[in-house]
Amino acid sequence: MKVLIVEDEPNVASFIARGLAEAGHEPHMVHTGKEGLSLASSEPFDAVVLDLILPDMTGLEVCHQFRDRKGYDTPVIMLTALGSTEDVVKGLQTGADDYLVKPFKFRELLARLEAHNRHRKAHYGADALKVGDLEIDTFRRIVRRDGQLIRLTAREYELLVYLMRHAGGVVSREAILASVWGMDWDVETNVVDVYINYLRNKVDKPFPSKLIQTVIGMGYILTEEEIG
Ligand code: CA
Repeated sequence: MKVLIVEDEPNVASFIARGLAEAGHEPHMVHTGKEGLSLASSEPFDAVVLDLILPDMTGLEVCHQFRDRKGYDTPVIMLTALGSTEDVVKGLQTGADDYLVKPFKFRELLARLEAHNRHRKAHYGADALKVGDLEIDTFRRIVRRDGQLIRLTAREYELLVYLMRHAGGVVSREAILASVWGMDWDVETNVVDVYINYLRNKVDKPFPSKLIQTVIGMGYILTEEEIG
């Protein structure tokens, strides 16, 4: 999970970030509401941990602005030191999905984040694919690299999804042809190489590092690592 942490208390923020990183997640910390809103609009997150009292605005206002954006349905967990029923109710009314009262156990925050994330995935019946800075939202069929939207044709998209699902492993032209085109290898065609080339022009060429690599005599591999 990629988690946005909006929390001005450095100790609490780093406590959450450290725990998430140790659990294999990807935390991003910001300390003001403005930074949180700006980061959330420039990249996708799986969940937001939002403190109620921030230096520039309240967590309620931040949450309200998140939800005002069309389609911004990322789960938000509010942190409150106050714990009064009124604050909790307000938080949930502005669109927060859940809340925790400080001090809380990290284990509990993690369990709730994972539960909301599972729920969201089940709701959409889809998942996100990610290799380095290349990301696919398979529910919306949106491809981004380094935050930039990449437009693909339907076949290019299917090919990229196939490569992403097998990321880090070599896939043969035969396997690609069978899975993406539903064709047997005995058909004489170089369509795979042609489409790999189309994909490279869109996904790799404009960026400093190349993800789609040729393994001579074997096929292709999509990986962040440089293959010799
Ligand atoms: Ca605070």
